Amino acid sequence: MLRIYNTMTRHKDEFQPLQEGLVTLYACGPTVYDFPHIGNLRTFLWSDLLARMLRRRGFEVHNVMNVTDVDDKTIDGAEREGVSLGEYTQRYADYFFEDLDRLRIEPAWKYPRATEHIPQMLEVVQTLVEKGHAYEQDGSVYFDISSYPRYGRLSGVVPEEQTSREFGRLDSDEYAREDVRDFVLWKAAKSGEPSWDSPWGPGRPGWHIECSAMSIEYLGKTIDMHMGGVDLIFPHHENEIAQSEAATGQEFVRYWIHAEHLIVEGEKMSKSKGNFYTLRDLLDRGYDPVAVRHLLMTAHYRKQLNFTLEGLEQSQQALARLWDFADRLAEVPADAQGADLSAQVAVARAKFDAELDDDLNVPGAMAAVFELVRDVNPLLAQAQVGAEGAEQVLDFLADADAVLGIIEHERGSVDEEVEALMAEREQARADKDWARADEIRDRLLARGIVIEDTPTGPRWRRTE
Ligand code: AMP
Ligand code: ZN
Repeated sequence: MLRIYNTMTRHKDEFQPLQEGLVTLYACGPTVYDFPHIGNLRTFLWSDLLARMLRRRGFEVHNVMNVTDVDDKTIDGAEREGVSLGEYTQRYADYFFEDLDRLRIEPAWKYPRATEHIPQMLEVVQTLVEKGHAYEQDGSVYFDISSYPRYGRLSGVVPEEQTSREFGRLDSDEYAREDVRDFVLWKAAKSGEPSWDSPWGPGRPGWHIECSAMSIEYLGKTIDMHMGGVDLIFPHHENEIAQSEAATGQEFVRYWIHAEHLIVEGEKMSKSKGNFYTLRDLLDRGYDPVAVRHLLMTAHYRKQLNFTLEGLEQSQQALARLWDFADRLAEVPADAQGADLSAQVAVARAKFDAELDDDLNVPGAMAAVFELVRDVNPLLAQAQVGAEGAEQVLDFLADADAVLGIIEHERGSVDEEVEALMAEREQARADKDWARADEIRDRLLARGIVIEDTPTGPRWRRTE
């Protein structure tokens, strides 16, 4: 039985999809105005892990992630560069998909773009106006939150009496809880900005309406799961609920799932604070994208993760250990006899399943894999693993990897990396850069590799 923490009910709920065998999942996607930072990517990774876990359990998953390609930031960026909005956003959408691919994030079922769904958004806005939940003012349309008494259920924000229309409205898409007021659904065009025709004159959509319209379009009026980072609970998701439910008269989302932030020295990683890394920054420093994937999933999705380069180094080492383990299992000769490992594998698999079922505990599931590595490694070192045992373990690794996405690798890549580091150490020694040479030796040692300098040159072997 899968249980998942639902921000709406504030506890772990048993998961039952609306339709047997099918899960509908909407995850708020990127605004394509710049490279995503690895905090954004961590949140997108969680929707991948959730979808992979559901697929492994046999569900068909219709997962949708929107691409926000019109808002203040994209319009400003295009204007600054003197290119069209489409050209500007396409560039960053391409980078975004490249990053997903490098992080082994499986493609979503659909990636709808805001600018391609203006008619659907206008339809929802029109319905809201007709039902008395929205009103026009100077060519813009606002949601009247006093018309929707259930406002605030998700975030706990309680609008004051004076939030009714006489007390002003908000034109910005992002604002603080204290500022709760009528929010904008459709913005009257400012001169020189891209705009679309509407019953209220030329304009463009607000940010919130995009997700409601595209979720309804592709997944229906009521969906199973909706995901995003915790910063989206208010106002974005609160507003999505209000406008969707006021328009359709039906429950919008059954399970609300929110991922905690990636932080740096106690602060949220963000563009505005300047404390961010992009995936490219890390790849340029020589890290493997799969190590980044591993690091981002080392804390539970509802826990903050503190990003450090040391942590990334440890992830790189953990992967080397895992890949090396899998390589050695694959090298066990077909006729080798050895211990029966079915009991150990069954324990690992049961723990793996139980952890994922308990609110998508990916770090717990990874621990099940690494515990098996720890138990089987000594047997491998003593040549006690036979062909059958090796296959049992490799089958489990492949099964676990359907969710984790970190085990598959090119055979021999560990050896290649060790050889490259050894060559670098030789060069450091030739340059009399002893500190660098020692650093490389220590790094290899941390991965369980000992270098021995012999009369015929350095050699390496594995520690037990
Ligand atoms: P944006 O492109 O700014 O709309 O953000 C895309 C997604 O990244 C949203 O779901 C945010 O909640 C999420 N996000 C923003 N900053 C962080 C962070 N530091 N850690 C994790 N997720 C984040
Ligand atoms: Zn959204």
